[in-house]
Amino acid sequence: MDFGKQISEMKFYVDFDDCLCETGRAFSVIAERLFGKTVPYEEIRFFDLQDSFELTDEDYAKMMIEAHRPEILLSYEEAPGASRVLNEWIDEGHEVFIITGRPADSYEASRKWLDEHGLERVKLYCLNKYGREFFLTNSDFNLELEDYYKMEFDYAIEDSPMAFKFFDHLPDLKVMVYDRPWNQECELPKSNYSRCVDWEQIREMVNRN
Ligand SMILES: [Mg+2]
Repeated sequence: MDFGKQISEMKFYVDFDDCLCETGRAFSVIAERLFGKTVPYEEIRFFDLQDSFELTDEDYAKMMIEAHRPEILLSYEEAPGASRVLNEWIDEGHEVFIITGRPADSYEASRKWLDEHGLERVKLYCLNKYGREFFLTNSDFNLELEDYYKMEFDYAIEDSPMAFKFFDHLPDLKVMVYDRPWNQECELPKSNYSRCVDWEQIREMVNRN
C-alpha cells in the first residue's frame, strides 16, 4: 500500500481583489462618487475597468489612485466565507499564498486588511500581473516574475482571465475561477479550470479532490 500521498500538504494561490474581497462592488461606488458614473456591479462587463466605466485615461488613473488609498483598501468587504475557508485549510496544514496584482505601495494596507480579517497566517506577495504601474510613480512589486515562476501551487483561486497566463507553467494546477460579471464570457482555457460561485463551493471542490 502506498501511503505516500495520503496526507500531503497543499499550496494555494489566492488572488486578493474579487476573490478575498469585494473590490468590484467598491469600484462601482467610487466611480459614482468621483465621476457620477452609474455602473452597477452586475454590469461591470470587462476586467478592464477603464472600458467598463467608460473613463478617460486621466479619470481612470484618478480612480486607481483613489481605490489604492490605504483607508479605501481597508474598507473593502470580505467575500463571504473567505477567511473561514482559508483558516480551515491552514489548520489542516496547508499553505496559503495571497498573490495580488496590487503594487507594493499597497502592501501595508493589504497586510492590515488580512490581519483585521483573521488572516494573520497567510503570506502576501505583490506580483505585477497587469502592468498597471502607470498610476503610481516609482511603484514596484515585491515578487519578481522569475521568483514567482519558482513557486509551485496545487490550487489557484483567481477571477481575472488576464492572470490565467501565470498558470501555464503548472500543468497539474487546479484553477478555480471566481465567478464575476467580467469573466462570464471568457472560455475556460483547459479542463483543469472550473467556475466557482462562492467560497463554500470552492471548499467543497477542494474537499472532493
Ligand atoms: Mg482579482
